[in-house]
Amino acid sequence: MAFRVRPALRGKHRRRQPVRTAATLAGVAVIAGAGAFGASAMAGPDHHHAVATAAAKKNVLTQAASVTGSLANSFSAQADVQRTVANTAHEQADQARAEAAAEAKAKAAKAAAAAKAKAKAAAEAKAKAAAGAKAQARAAAAKAAAQAQSARATQAPVTAAPQAKAAADTGWTKPVDAAIGTPYHQAGSNWSSGYHTGVDFLVDSGTPVHSVAAGVVVSAGADGAYGNDVIIKHADGMYTLYGHLTEPLVSAGQTVTEGQEIGISGATGNVTGPHLHFEVRTTPDYGSDVDPIAYLAKHGVTV
Ligand SMILES: [Zn+2]
Repeated sequence: MAFRVRPALRGKHRRRQPVRTAATLAGVAVIAGAGAFGASAMAGPDHHHAVATAAAKKNVLTQAASVTGSLANSFSAQADVQRTVANTAHEQADQARAEAAAEAKAKAAKAAAAAKAKAKAAAEAKAKAAAGAKAQARAAAAKAAAQAQSARATQAPVTAAPQAKAAADTGWTKPVDAAIGTPYHQAGSNWSSGYHTGVDFLVDSGTPVHSVAAGVVVSAGADGAYGNDVIIKHADGMYTLYGHLTEPLVSAGQTVTEGQEIGISGATGNVTGPHLHFEVRTTPDYGSDVDPIAYLAKHGVTV
């Protein structure tokens, strides 16, 4: 039994030893010891002693085997520990990777959220601006509509006839659509009063001249320094005069509408060239003139 165990033990430890001499020698020594023991066991009177000794030897061998097993277990345990450590390291690495990934993911999500929020804010600002512009447009439209309605309401009682005209129509208009030459009240020796009693519109001969508002013709024809002129009385009690005409197209007592063609421009009377002399008076007579531009402006006509 002992023989079977020992070489196994020895062989296990020496399997890779290239030199067999030392092993053989050791083996011989052990066998010799065992042989001595065997002899004494057989020859000795104290059988109990021999049995005890054998038991002790067996114990030692068992212990050796146990130690070897322990060592093996220990190695195994160590390997386990190493595996565990390795696993732990691996797990830690995995965890670190996972954490890093999670962090990166969180960072990306945060960035995405920030970008989204920014985009949303921009969109909201844009929408707000658009809404504001829309509201302004609506307010402007409402204001314009209100003004138009107000204008219609104002105009309605004054002039009944031209109500079919555009909403912006005040019932008054320019006599001709042209630039201003000599202004009202300019001083000069050309005029008997010492100053210009009207305003001159720069038009060539042959231009149609219109009544600035509805009214009744007071006079039409030759009028001294004014040449051929037309004088019209309006509903507000004021008079308008159109001078230096080539010819009048209306006659005294005739009713005219706003914008009606009442004559053709020219250069009759006291002139240095063709133009329309437009004058506004408080009476039909010379010397009662007022500022014609201001008068037209009062009726919503800008020259
Ligand atoms: Zn004039």
